[in-house]
Amino acid sequence: MALARITGPYFWVSWLSKLLVGETSCQWGVWFRAQHEGSSWEKVPSDFDQVQWLIKHGELLEQTRRYYERQGYIVSEASQNSFKLRGATATLAGRPDLVVARDGEVVIVDVKVGQPNVSHTAQVMTYMYALPRAMQSMFHGTRISGQVVYPDGPVDVPEAAVNQEFIAALGGLMRGLAVREAPRKTPSWNECRFCPIGARDCHERVDICEEQPVGVTEDF
Ligand code: SF4
Repeated sequence: MALARITGPYFWVSWLSKLLVGETSCQWGVWFRAQHEGSSWEKVPSDFDQVQWLIKHGELLEQTRRYYERQGYIVSEASQNSFKLRGATATLAGRPDLVVARDGEVVIVDVKVGQPNVSHTAQVMTYMYALPRAMQSMFHGTRISGQVVYPDGPVDVPEAAVNQEFIAALGGLMRGLAVREAPRKTPSWNECRFCPIGARDCHERVDICEEQPVGVTEDF
């Protein structure tokens, strides 16, 4: 049985970004992970595609790290960038791939091997919001921007992107999922196949791709 977290709701940044931009709609999956100890529920095992993805990600990350070092930046890598930011209702945690710094300028970098996607930008924006608040002494007086690095090149995220509107949307989403009452569950093959929660804990999980119904019209 999944056990409630004794320290209260706990969100990883990467769980929130797709919901934040409406790319996914199953709030229950994020709520469940935020509310329950990760070791107490059954995860869907990694498949061959995920291993390939990790290898490609590691290669692009290494290229990016070397690029910034050649430019004279001080680079800190994922395990050095772990942070937690505690709010009144929940904790936000994350670990951006790279944080690079030079002459009072900090760039928070995340590497993605798939197609460019607005949820990747939202993930970096969430890091840009949270890291300076979680590590105030390190970021004091710096200019902070972000970057999503894809195989075809980087997408820059300006400091101004993290405005009050973004912060309100992020805070509203987290507060809504920090309550004990479970939110809606929207099972579909399109979302469930990327969800780590197994059928033991999510009985509505959809593991088979069923054909979409196709209607016929003479209106167009
Ligand atoms: S398995 Fe599907 S329905 Fe269940 S939480 Fe994940 S996305 Fe939602």
